[in-house]
Amino acid sequence: MVVILTFFFVHWYLSAFSQSFFLHRYMAHGMFKMSLFWERFFYLLTFVSQGSSFLHPKSYAQLHLAHHMHSDTEEDPHSPLFFRDVFSMMWQTKTIYMEYQRGIRKAPDSFVANMPVWGFVDRLGNSILVRLLFVAAYTAVYVVFAPSVWFYLLLLIQIVIGPFHGAFINWCGHKYGYVTHDTGDNSKNTFPLDLLFMGETFQNNHHQYPNRANFATRWFECDMLYPLIWLLDKVSVIQLKPKAV
Ligand SMILES: [Zn+2]
Ligand SMILES: [Zn+2]
Repeated sequence: MVVILTFFFVHWYLSAFSQSFFLHRYMAHGMFKMSLFWERFFYLLTFVSQGSSFLHPKSYAQLHLAHHMHSDTEEDPHSPLFFRDVFSMMWQTKTIYMEYQRGIRKAPDSFVANMPVWGFVDRLGNSILVRLLFVAAYTAVYVVFAPSVWFYLLLLIQIVIGPFHGAFINWCGHKYGYVTHDTGDNSKNTFPLDLLFMGETFQNNHHQYPNRANFATRWFECDMLYPLIWLLDKVSVIQLKPKAV
């Protein structure tokens, strides 16, 4: 049981880190800069940690820009206001995400012009074979170490971990919680102690200050990722932009 829970939580937090740090705060919002070496390092980490549910960084960033531009209107790719359940919301999100990936939709050139792309990793991450190999690797760990069949529910989460995090954040972050800032949309701060999603459920704070690297704005709120971002800036792995602090 210890092995399975360790495997699950290490995978959970690595994936949540990649999504919040690299896909969201770096790719979509450009809150900080980094050298090509570190960019490739975190690109690769995103591929490895999301594994079978790898999200293509450039498509993720464009989808997310559309969310900010049209938050909680009919143009929003994933507003819970327009869906009866989280599954139908995520189905539309997937459809629009795929349209960005195929080039049917495109964010303005000014947004995508200098966006980092690593074609080799994108192709690897999007390959059905590679996705299935990740599923096989996760399953092998469960076959060897799972103490009962109930633990396979955790395996199902691990197989779709990227969209699973996204579904939770997009649904809850615009539906449940409290409001600190009048943003004109339905964004909420869901958890004062956002220990599972690395700050991502502070949607109301984030929509008010979309370029600010710290998603917590009140004394009792904890954006778990921000101290790490602060540290990476201090040791020169990244350079926080003035607008982000
Ligand atoms: Zn939002
Ligand atoms: Zn954002």
